[in-house]
Amino acid sequence: MYLIFRCDCGRALYSKEGNMTRKCVCGRTVKVKTRRIFGRAETFQEASELVRKLQEEKYGSCGFINPARGEQTQR
Ligand SMILES: [Zn+2]
Repeated sequence: MYLIFRCDCGRALYSKEGNMTRKCVCGRTVKVKTRRIFGRAETFQEASELVRKLQEEKYGSCGFINPARGEQTQR
């Protein structure tokens, strides 16, 4: 199970359930438990898809910023 949440910088992130923290690409270490959980996903693929949707909601599909993670969906 993966949890979907946002960093203070606004970037959508996901973390495997059970992990306490998640390092964002902006440099902050996000404490998963203190964040509002936007969604849950069973698989990594689902999680990355949810994150992509959240990013598009915020930035628009044209302004999607590559999250600088190799495991992210390629465009
Ligand atoms: Zn961040």
